[in-house]
Amino acid sequence: MSHAVDNPSTAIEIAQAVASGATNASTVMDEHLARIEASETEVHAFNLVLADQARQHADALDARIAAGEDVGPLAGVPIALKDNMCTRGIATTCSSRILEGWEPPYNATVADRLANAGAILVGKTNLDEFAMGSSTENSAFGPTKNPHDLSRVPGGSSGGSAAAVAAGYVAASLGSDTGGSIRQPAALCGVVGVKPTYGAVSRYGLIAFASSLDQIGPFTHTVADAALVHEVIGGHDPLDSTSIPQPAPALTEVLDRGVDGLRVGLIDEMMGHGIDGISADVLARTNEAAEALAAAGAKVDRVSIPASIYGLSSYYLVAPAEASSNLSRYDGVRYGLREDGANVVEMNTATRTAGFGDEVKRRIMLGTYALSAGYYDAYYGKAQRLRTLLAQEFNEAYQRFDVLLSPTSPCTAFAFGDKTADPMAMYLNDVCTIPSNLSGDPAMSVPFGIGDDGMPVGVQVLAPATHEPVMFQVAAEVERLAAEAKGAAQ
Ligand code: GLN
Repeated sequence: MSHAVDNPSTAIEIAQAVASGATNASTVMDEHLARIEASETEVHAFNLVLADQARQHADALDARIAAGEDVGPLAGVPIALKDNMCTRGIATTCSSRILEGWEPPYNATVADRLANAGAILVGKTNLDEFAMGSSTENSAFGPTKNPHDLSRVPGGSSGGSAAAVAAGYVAASLGSDTGGSIRQPAALCGVVGVKPTYGAVSRYGLIAFASSLDQIGPFTHTVADAALVHEVIGGHDPLDSTSIPQPAPALTEVLDRGVDGLRVGLIDEMMGHGIDGISADVLARTNEAAEALAAAGAKVDRVSIPASIYGLSSYYLVAPAEASSNLSRYDGVRYGLREDGANVVEMNTATRTAGFGDEVKRRIMLGTYALSAGYYDAYYGKAQRLRTLLAQEFNEAYQRFDVLLSPTSPCTAFAFGDKTADPMAMYLNDVCTIPSNLSGDPAMSVPFGIGDDGMPVGVQVLAPATHEPVMFQVAAEVERLAAEAKGAAQ
């Protein structure tokens, strides 16, 4: 049974229709809430749906438009935020018991920027607890289901945000990507997902998992919508000390430039030569995308990034190390849950024992171990050196190529329970996405055909830091070529 939406209105179409008076924000909101009403109990994309608030905001926006006001480029667009982004006075849970009852006293910068652009928040989406996972099966509130096939995972950790777009509950949503959590669920749910350059989008109000890797980015139906949302949420924010002190790059204007003469490198290690376990159908679709780009005028060649093979190992030291530090703040005093104990240490232990799920505890233990005296150099230090090596290899590749290409996820959406018994099998979902988080470079997933099981496949376009324009330019062509290939097959 599929609950994926057919021929959805894009964010750009909605905003134009609302701004021009061809429709109004209330009508658009009612359509989206009706879809939520119809199937959300089965899909479970949301931790919280703000139906009444969303209707009120739509009415208020319509009144401003009627009064002649320009309400912004996302006028009346229904959107959702992953439930690890702070919303003032609205529960923000990270899908964890430990934050139960906590309401942030401030908004994430991205929440304010979307609202100021006329977008309307519909709800907070489900995720793997604290964004640790690749299937949403680690949510304390139960998993999200893939709208294309309810027996399969939507990917993760931003599975709720990907599913909410795929099911047509919202036209766009935001996720966070530390090792692949936007791109992998985008691939599995058949939507576009972008991990911007580290520092391109403010992390202010994003609840930290691994601060040197975390980035916020959009999920949308189209590359053009992702470009527009990126323009709205990107650009310098003085509230985030790692924010790049530059305005957001112009992206919507580059999308029709084609790929003539652009140099595209197909990453060898991710195409069956080094990294094992990429399925044949995913490799086939990625090769077809590369061939189609070549036919469209790009110069396509293979490129080797040898350190990418060790990306996963490096990530599973760096990310848990940072997580063990970031998550030490959940002590039963400052946020959410408290389990009583005879003294502070016992209260603290009881709270963390009851409040965190198994995967979060595993990460905290891995990270604490990797940072401990005696192991620091052997593990954490070595992982950091690999990170530098990887960034150097990418930089060398970008001397010869404008963008790189690879699969996004090694496989299409898998069945619930398939990978829960073996953490390593779950971690391997991110072998192709993790390298860009370690290097800080941008990367995005664009749907390209289907796998042998009929489920969506995503192709990953990678670019050097701050080169989002050329990444979106190529992604737009990949999207056109995917539509062409689909048309030819029908
Ligand atoms: N799946 C990876 C992990 O579990 C990546 C998660 C993410 O990007 N937030 O850590």
